Amino acid sequence: MKETHKTGPTIAVIFGGTGDLAKRKLIPAFYNLFLDGWLPEQFAVIGLGRSESDDKDYQHHLREGLGEFSRSGKPADVQWESFQNSIYYLSSDINDPQAYRQLADKIEGIEALWGTRANRLFYLSVSPRFIEPITINLGLVGIASNPEHDRIVVEKPFGHDLESAKELNQLLTRTFQESQIYRIDHYLGKETVQNILAFRFANALFEPLWNRNYIEYVQITVAEEVGVEDRGGYYECAGALRDMIQNHLLQLLCMVAMEPPISFEAEEIRNRKVDVLQAIRRLSREEVGKYAVRGQYGPGWMKGRQVPGYRQEAGVDPNSTVETYAAIKFYLDNWRWQGVPFYLRTGKRMQEKTTSITVQFRSVPHLTFPSAMSENILPNRLIINIQPQMDIRLRFIAKKPGLDMALTPAEMVFDFNAYSHQSQSPEAYETLLLDAMQGDATLFMRSDQVEVAWDVITPILETWESRPSLEFPNYPAGMWGPENAEALIARKGHTWTVAVTK
Ligand code: NAP
Repeated sequence: MKETHKTGPTIAVIFGGTGDLAKRKLIPAFYNLFLDGWLPEQFAVIGLGRSESDDKDYQHHLREGLGEFSRSGKPADVQWESFQNSIYYLSSDINDPQAYRQLADKIEGIEALWGTRANRLFYLSVSPRFIEPITINLGLVGIASNPEHDRIVVEKPFGHDLESAKELNQLLTRTFQESQIYRIDHYLGKETVQNILAFRFANALFEPLWNRNYIEYVQITVAEEVGVEDRGGYYECAGALRDMIQNHLLQLLCMVAMEPPISFEAEEIRNRKVDVLQAIRRLSREEVGKYAVRGQYGPGWMKGRQVPGYRQEAGVDPNSTVETYAAIKFYLDNWRWQGVPFYLRTGKRMQEKTTSITVQFRSVPHLTFPSAMSENILPNRLIINIQPQMDIRLRFIAKKPGLDMALTPAEMVFDFNAYSHQSQSPEAYETLLLDAMQGDATLFMRSDQVEVAWDVITPILETWESRPSLEFPNYPAGMWGPENAEALIARKGHTWTVAVTK
């Protein structure tokens, strides 16, 4: 994670430089790092794609993207002109070994101008099927072979299941050392997610309560309003379990459930997260029906607008059995969390876009007040809103103002935006790119983390794939998911948190 020092001379190579991710996220992130003074003087981006283009056209294409997607808005002429000189384009086919010789010449040419060997950051912003040719060819041409200076960033999805993730890890480690590989999960770069560590481990107040003695249950929700948009083809091979639970939600669970690390070193933090994943009780196939619920959205209404069901989306099989919603109850087998349910849910076309974590504390052990006074007593509850709302809310019980002694729930709120205006808050990709440039892997996934996360969901994946749902679609767009997700949590008298808004 960022320290206040600049990185050394850096060349960032983006495979898939003409793609959507580069335009919407990567280049705006580099540009904002430049504006905020985080980039070194000697900095260059080389974008690669098949499209015929040259440096000038490519720079123009990226500038348009900034106007549309950057948190700092349309770039001012003076600043853009200074930044654009560091952007180059190479038209090339990833499968063509000759392209890597050209890339090597380009990199070495820039370094010769600078008079120094730069850090080289290779960003694979391409379909996973290209990881193999890129890795092999980078190895052959020898431009990513210095473990101190050369790093490779791999986008999600990292594998399709446990076996393919293992194969991918083996493939990458044939050419690179583990310390050079940065597997990205952009959720971990979010300010509010990083703040979970600060909240838990920089305060004496909460940690003593952070265990089975005081916490009744934890729930993590990642709800999207959007459907599959133009990614129907991709989603048909993924589904909610692979696309969201295996990575983002399990990573959030790790942040909530991990033991206090003894230092802020990347390996230490990643070890503590792996401990959590190892502790998650694996479900047997028989238990999947009891602990996991799946759903698929049908046609419905979103904010007064009629929207199609999943099966009617472009690129989707009209009889698709792919889940767009998943809710799972996990238990962790360790001293801290034994018996505390962790409910995870995610879905597309949900009523509201929200990512939040609810920590529900146990009720007070004895009610001192007569029932007439205490009918509004609710257990303490902590909500960590990750996005789009960014705050932490602690519910406690207070006396209702007035002559009689009546009790009522009250809330203490820490609002992230009150500290930093939202548009000034760095985006996840800014944090992560800077960390990768600085060689800090804390917020990236290590090979064993990825593999254990796949292992956790494997029984659910296999059970769902072998027994396609006959009930799909089972929730209309614009709702909070299928009815049996309510039953999943209600079995122990718990309830899903409805989004708490300002
Ligand atoms: P995209 O818009 O489809 O872009 C694909 C890129 O790959 C283009 O630059 C394309 O170049 C290039 N490409 C394809 N075949 C090539 C070849 N044979 N040789 C050279 N270049 C080739 O994809 P994307 O949305 O940017 O996504 C990239 C990766 O990031 C994917 O793994 C995706 O899952 C992941 N991701 C994306 C997002 C997002 O918001 N977009 C979010 C999270 C993760 P040409 O167009 O010039 O042919």
